[in-house]
Amino acid sequence: MRYVDYIIVGGGISGSVLSYTLMKYGASVHVFDQPTENQSSRVAAGLWNPIVLKRLKKVWMADEMIANLHEVYPDMETWTGERFFEPLPLRRVFHNPGEQNQWMELTDNPGFKPYLNDGIHPTPPNIIAQHGSALTKATGRVHVATMIQGVRNALEKLNAYTEGRFDWSLVQPHSEGISYGDIAAHSIISCEGMQLATGQAQHNVAGFAPVKGEVLKVALPVSLGKECIHQGHFMLGEADNQASVGATYAWDGFDKGPTPEKRAELEEHIQKVWDAEYTVTNHLSGIRPASKDRRPLVGPHPNKENTWIFNGMGSRAVLMAPYLAQVLAEHLLYGAPIIEECLPQRFA
Ligand SMILES: Cc1cc2nc3c(=O)[nH]c(=O)nc-3n(C[C@H](O)[C@H](O)[C@H](O)COP(=O)(O)OP(=O)(O)OC[C@H]3O[C@@H](n4cnc5c(N)ncnc54)[C@H](O)[C@@H]3O)c2cc1C
Repeated sequence: MRYVDYIIVGGGISGSVLSYTLMKYGASVHVFDQPTENQSSRVAAGLWNPIVLKRLKKVWMADEMIANLHEVYPDMETWTGERFFEPLPLRRVFHNPGEQNQWMELTDNPGFKPYLNDGIHPTPPNIIAQHGSALTKATGRVHVATMIQGVRNALEKLNAYTEGRFDWSLVQPHSEGISYGDIAAHSIISCEGMQLATGQAQHNVAGFAPVKGEVLKVALPVSLGKECIHQGHFMLGEADNQASVGATYAWDGFDKGPTPEKRAELEEHIQKVWDAEYTVTNHLSGIRPASKDRRPLVGPHPNKENTWIFNGMGSRAVLMAPYLAQVLAEHLLYGAPIIEECLPQRFA
């Protein structure tokens, strides 16, 4: 029998960041992951942004999360030997002069100063911005696929990763907590993302309200460069004259995959902000594991012993996961307080 502190089920953004964090705190982990095409971490653009640009409101706990994120991802880069953390201003394209005024007012507000550049920025060629545009600060992207693969490689070197479905029916009670095959652990942490959120897991947790999202990959005649144009949707420059365009929101059609309606919505966005040709090269969809009250689910499983939930990141896993992983790790290892409003039993 092999002993670890925690078995982690799921190797998306949540499971990857949490396994790294627990190990940083000195705990041992073993990760089980069944990578599937439809997992949301694989289609996510990986943007993080502490401001809801549409409403110019700060995201819940943005200040804490931003501070944490700037330490965690660079440390994870060192640990994995991969580069995936990319600070990047987002270009907010204004719909009307009122939006521009509101932005300028907020740049004088001490709460927003760290996140909004003052001054209206000249708009680069091929970007349509009739009412001007301005840039955010402290925003950027994580190249999620590289991050997840890097964590997997690092865990494999430690014999701490198994590709395959974790079968909850094989979990046994054990003097250490639980056992699964030849591994004994204090507890299991479920980072099963959309599988749990959509009721496809072998156990249930109430309170999820999953949200489907779609993205387009497009080829451009000229590079968009290091730009992320935001006007309700985003158009994000990628390598080799490519761009990602997203993301849509839908509360049904989870089994349908990409749809012509959402492709049309995204193409409409391209035509609003991009004044040149483009060719759609790919169209992907995923399901965000969101909750009914838009708060994550982090804490003990409402009805399963020795089991913890780390899920419900919605559309902000990149921003939220590092901070919430630290909170959970410090709770598990030192008994530090957990965030009450994230406890999964609030929906039980
Ligand atoms: C189109 C789109 C764009 C998005 N863009 C962004 C963005 O720019 N920024 C951002 O922060 N967020 C974005 N999101 C949201 C983000 O993708 C999700 O919040 C995030 O991926 C959730 O990560 P997760 O690890 O919790 O879940 P998932 O990505 O669903 O990963 C769960 C993993 O667990 C595995 N698993 C489940 N059950 C088992 C089992 N029994 N055994 C083994 N493995 C199991 C799954 O196979 C999967 O690999 C976007 C989402 C979509 C759909």
